Amino acid sequence: MFRSLNKEINKTPLEDWIARKIGLQAEELTREALERYQLAQIRKTIAWVKEKSSFYREKFRAVEPESITDFSLFSKLPFTFPQDIRQNPQRLVCTGQRDIARIVTLNSSGTTGQPKRIYFTPEDQQLTIDFFDIGMRNLVGPGDRVLILLPWRQPGSVGDLLRAGLERLGAEAILFGPVSEAKEAVQTALKSKANSLVGIPTHVLAMARSQKGKLLSGSLKSVLLSTDYVPRSICQALESIWGCQVFNHYGMTEMGLGGGVQCAALAGYHLREADLYFEIIDPESGQVLDEGETGEVVFTTLTRVGMPLIRYRTGDLSRFIPTKCLCGTVLRSMEVVKSRIAGQIKLQNHSLSIAEIDEVLFLFDEIVDYQARIDRDSGRDCLYIDIKTSENTLVSRDKDLEYRLGQALRRVPAIQKEFPLNNQIVIITSGNSVPFSRGTGKRSIIDNRLNSG
Ligand SMILES: [Zn+2]
Repeated sequence: MFRSLNKEINKTPLEDWIARKIGLQAEELTREALERYQLAQIRKTIAWVKEKSSFYREKFRAVEPESITDFSLFSKLPFTFPQDIRQNPQRLVCTGQRDIARIVTLNSSGTTGQPKRIYFTPEDQQLTIDFFDIGMRNLVGPGDRVLILLPWRQPGSVGDLLRAGLERLGAEAILFGPVSEAKEAVQTALKSKANSLVGIPTHVLAMARSQKGKLLSGSLKSVLLSTDYVPRSICQALESIWGCQVFNHYGMTEMGLGGGVQCAALAGYHLREADLYFEIIDPESGQVLDEGETGEVVFTTLTRVGMPLIRYRTGDLSRFIPTKCLCGTVLRSMEVVKSRIAGQIKLQNHSLSIAEIDEVLFLFDEIVDYQARIDRDSGRDCLYIDIKTSENTLVSRDKDLEYRLGQALRRVPAIQKEFPLNNQIVIITSGNSVPFSRGTGKRSIIDNRLNSG
């Protein structure tokens, strides 16, 4: 928090890049110029999807692209929902199959079943590489060595495009993939002399808290954590163990993988505003909210060719930070996403999210990952927390740790009120058996109440 007082914060490199992308000199970039550009791209995109996509042709039958002359008119257009992609992704695709370089299949974690398929042309992939190149300059530069702990084997996968972006900026990418053995990942980081890591929060935490994890202290200067949201407690743990800066990246496949990234001020994310237009809406009424209010993140692609998305509902909750970032950019800052609408579990009188449990459990040095689930046992709701501890060899129960975790969880108001009895919170130490299976998927509380008696 006070870091900003001690040293000057470099302006996010995204600003100059976005100025160039919209045909301006860096110093000419203003909000007005950017918004003029965004509106023009919105009109172009609507014309394109009306011509090429049967889904949007039908949806926007009555919409005249040229009539969208300001954002309030744009905000009257209907939303695109994840369900629209699930039902028939082909109808949203704007090019022939031959022009598609990659199709990403996203398996649904919820009950909705059908996967989502997102289509990208080679031009779309170049846009992502471009963003990774510039976005990574917030934390690394030429000559740096970056260990990539994300999937990379498939051409066009997130790790593959990140590698291409890093090579363009002159850094070296060391490809590893999602972490299943923290020890092995630490050894690779040490052997390859990596000075930066990009990975999934719990995976990187497992490395830091593994036996040899501390050996990376001093050699790592930065870490980028990427998923839908990053627990604050994990950032703090990494900063304290490794003494490095921890950056948050915000993105989802539908956005073209990258959406925004923190600058050295480590406040909100700066957004990829030449490629994406963001809105914050009231998830109930669908109305655009005033600057600074928290609501659902909605985005529109401005430069995508293969499968443009208009007013796509992300399900993530955030807000625009109304004050200027310490780096001085004219770009907007979006507060780091803390939770998703779907991640909120409704209990009798309160709701509970995985984020609230994260902030409690990851403060414990012993914990590297866990699964939370709610079951109904003998008519009562019970919260089961299955923990994975930093010592993979631990198989026996640690009663003292279980007690302390239970006490800490009770400090979460929703847990205290909804699970008041001691036996309503059950901590399970299954050591090695909790898988790191989620990869880049979204974490959530498993709700078994409907299945159990
Ligand atoms: Zn900034």
